Amino acid sequence: MEVKKVLQDENCTKLIISLDDGYLIENCFKYPFWICVTTQVGCPIHCAFCQSGKNGFIRNLTSNEILEQIKISMQYAIGEYSDEFLFYTVSFTGMGEPLINIDNVFDAIYEIQNRSDSEITLTTTGINSSIQRLFFTQRKITLDISLHAIFPDKRINIIPSEEVNPIIETIKFVLNNKKRFKKVVFDYLLLDGINDSDNDLNQLIACFANKRASIELIKYNTIIENDIYKASEPEVFQRFYTELNKNGIETIIEENVGIELKAGCGQLIWKYSEVTTNENMFSIRKNTTTEANGNY
Ligand code: SF4
Repeated sequence: MEVKKVLQDENCTKLIISLDDGYLIENCFKYPFWICVTTQVGCPIHCAFCQSGKNGFIRNLTSNEILEQIKISMQYAIGEYSDEFLFYTVSFTGMGEPLINIDNVFDAIYEIQNRSDSEITLTTTGINSSIQRLFFTQRKITLDISLHAIFPDKRINIIPSEEVNPIIETIKFVLNNKKRFKKVVFDYLLLDGINDSDNDLNQLIACFANKRASIELIKYNTIIENDIYKASEPEVFQRFYTELNKNGIETIIEENVGIELKAGCGQLIWKYSEVTTNENMFSIRKNTTTEANGNY
């Protein structure tokens, strides 16, 4: 595994990492606070608003590749190899649907929890058969469910897996088992004219009022030129925020980071070895810190 390119601003670092079979994946982090980890080369879910699945799905990452991705990011941040996981939060939120790669993701979570105090967050579109396996992690994790619509006919156009994993079942299951998780958060990407009507808001309220649920409203990041999707207007965010909180649903508006680097939500992509720059390149080094020091 080798870093091919680094993009950075004050809030975020994005790495383009070459895997041993030549595929390039991306992740992003702000050391030591958080890292957004990629779990698949591409994504088989093909959410309409997300770039990660647009080039198709190639393969799952192994647990080793997931863990090395964290170590190589730390190596870049602190300048030397460390075998520890020193991020406060490790988020399985990068490219891929982690619950489709559940065995490897589960092994990686287990290893991180065994060897660090990192908080674990996992974002999923709701793969119902896999969610209960997360009950058995050593310490509880935070589960982020990507809602983006409640009405099935609307959601299926945004997240096609709605057809086999209806969000209503996921919501019911997760709310009934909330105590098994550290926290459960429902993400709602507000798309102009798509899922931001009064009807959508009322449906959200009907689903979550008096359920001690938390919702994060997310701003859409443009992924291509002439995109058919657009982020909802600020007043729509404010209306959802006010009405949901008024109905006892703890709601926040998520702050977007890394947009200029194309490292924001839905912007990470995979490619096949096209990046050739030598700038900032280094390989992950194991065994001794001496070997790693200053060698990139
Ligand atoms: S949002 Fe997540 S699940 Fe959907 S296509 Fe992107 S990476 Fe896959």
